[in-house]
Amino acid sequence: EMDNAWTAVDDYLIERLVPEDEALAETRRSSAETVTPGIDVTANMGAFLALLVQISGAKRVLEFGTLAGYSSIWMARAMDDDGAVVTLDIDPAAAQVARRNFTAAGVAERVHVRVGPALESAQMLVEEQEEPFDLVFIDADKANNPHYLEASLTLSHPGTVIVIDNVVRGGAVVDEDSTDPDIQGIRTLMDRIETDERLTATALQTVGLKGWDGFLLARVN
Ligand code: SAM
Repeated sequence: EMDNAWTAVDDYLIERLVPEDEALAETRRSSAETVTPGIDVTANMGAFLALLVQISGAKRVLEFGTLAGYSSIWMARAMDDDGAVVTLDIDPAAAQVARRNFTAAGVAERVHVRVGPALESAQMLVEEQEEPFDLVFIDADKANNPHYLEASLTLSHPGTVIVIDNVVRGGAVVDEDSTDPDIQGIRTLMDRIETDERLTATALQTVGLKGWDGFLLARVN
């Protein structure tokens, strides 16, 4: 059974390369207190995001979808004290749990959670003339991905890195007749990026603890 092999290999890679400390392990457990438990990124994906932050030298990160703060902690820990992560979530329970986890992980000073529909929060950031972000991680409700991308572009500068998670969904992304709003959101996102000269993009499929999925990586031109 392929799924078992993928899981075993992910366990092995995580154990060897990116073991979780107690704060991260507790963050993962604590997603049980949110409306949507268990949908945080894997440790190796968290470490990948952290490496992207370091490689790009990002000082300002915007995240769509906080959950218990797992991916936020990986990215915040990859930044210096003057870095900032602004993370958006609609679930007040998630925001509360995440704030507790940020304190335990030692990153509370540089992570700011905004509660509400992410599109509204992003619009507020635009209105407040927030400085552009260096890296954006889009990982909330997939149906809104096209809107999140547009908002991200408004909040970006040339060179901003944009990562969009879960763009393969067990292969469902190629089903053009899908009535699943998440799949339609991903497909509309792909159509937009195809013709958007503001972006250079690729996407990679992944297998592992989360089954068969993938992520999109883009750079603002
Ligand atoms: N990035 C997190 C991590 O890896 O630890 C996981 C985020 S989880 C996949 C998706 C989150 O998006 C959930 O916490 C959910 O409450 C939030 N969400 C769903 N719809 C939303 C919306 N319209 N606006 C903001 N957040 C939303």
